[in-house]
Amino acid sequence: MKILRAYKAELDLNNVQKTDCASHAGAARYAYNWGLSRKKEAFSTGAKTPSAIDLHRELNVLKKTELPWMYEVSKCAPQESLRDLDKAFTNFFRRVKEKKAGKKVAVGFPHFKSKKNGLGSFRLTGAIHVFEKSIQLPRLGMLRLKERGYLPMSGAHILNATVSEKAGRWFVSVQVEIEISQPDREQKPVAGVDLGIIRMAQVSDGMIFENPRALKSALTKLKRLQRVVSRRQKGSANRKKSVRQLARAHYRVANLRKDALHKVTTMLTKTRSAIVLENLNVSGMLRNHHLAQAIADVGMYEFRRQLEYKGAWYGCEVLLADRFYPSTKRCSQCGQVKPEMSLGEREYRCDYCSLVIDRDLNAAINLEQLFCSS
Ligand SMILES: [Zn+2]
Repeated sequence: MKILRAYKAELDLNNVQKTDCASHAGAARYAYNWGLSRKKEAFSTGAKTPSAIDLHRELNVLKKTELPWMYEVSKCAPQESLRDLDKAFTNFFRRVKEKKAGKKVAVGFPHFKSKKNGLGSFRLTGAIHVFEKSIQLPRLGMLRLKERGYLPMSGAHILNATVSEKAGRWFVSVQVEIEISQPDREQKPVAGVDLGIIRMAQVSDGMIFENPRALKSALTKLKRLQRVVSRRQKGSANRKKSVRQLARAHYRVANLRKDALHKVTTMLTKTRSAIVLENLNVSGMLRNHHLAQAIADVGMYEFRRQLEYKGAWYGCEVLLADRFYPSTKRCSQCGQVKPEMSLGEREYRCDYCSLVIDRDLNAAINLEQLFCSS
């Protein structure tokens, strides 16, 4: 089975390269916004809406007269951007159809890209080569990699590369077509997984994944910076500086969390035939102010998302327990359900069969049992 996979690594750019990348991202954004307004125009006048190919042709004419600066960048950047625009419209029309069919979806008309959230990104196709310490891209040439070992070097068929900026740092992501073997479902066990706040994940066989220490300390730093920003005077240079530091800290936390989750989800989907998770109403819980930070940190959505796509690769089924299944209140030994189990109780003590067991482990086992009984 052939699947597409993306690999991302941070770039180590010099100032000239940073400027080059910024112009490419600018050209991509310009083409997207220009194409969007051309499409809107066509909608309002009832004319035939121009496709990505039509728009690209039009843009090439404009380059000669109004947009000579676009010659400075690879023609791929605006071209791929116009393709994305087409895709955005395809998705938009699909959502409109779904809504008409009675599904609850936000239709969301494609909107203009702004520079508010950074310089953005651009995609290049063509000759892309990955080396140990660098990546070679069309037009931009050799770019040094800050992180090694993240991009596939040989044997992989690279389809395209996307360069993006976030909080002052530049990244490259390459899309690769890879062949994966058919998964074997039979020999691997089933696992119930309880996602936690204090503990990242508890597996029904007793395995525990703690929140990494680096994440804990990054979170402490984040909280401190948040306080600093709120104390600084609005509009002051000091505040601007702190806001930048805060953005970097946010970014670091997000990365550490993602890394930690990737390790867990890869390990679980490779070694289990099915995983049962609690189907938490995350949006409801996020409104609860106290829990919000902690739950967001554990990244439940992200956890489920990763499990689901990796499950498809490695042949691991992901099942969600009913939201009302009492995984914490039920005794995993005798099946009795307690009327109450407060958040502070770290141990489950059964009054019927006198089982004493760790709260999270009990929940994980209950989830696993749900699969076996269904
Ligand atoms: Zn019991």
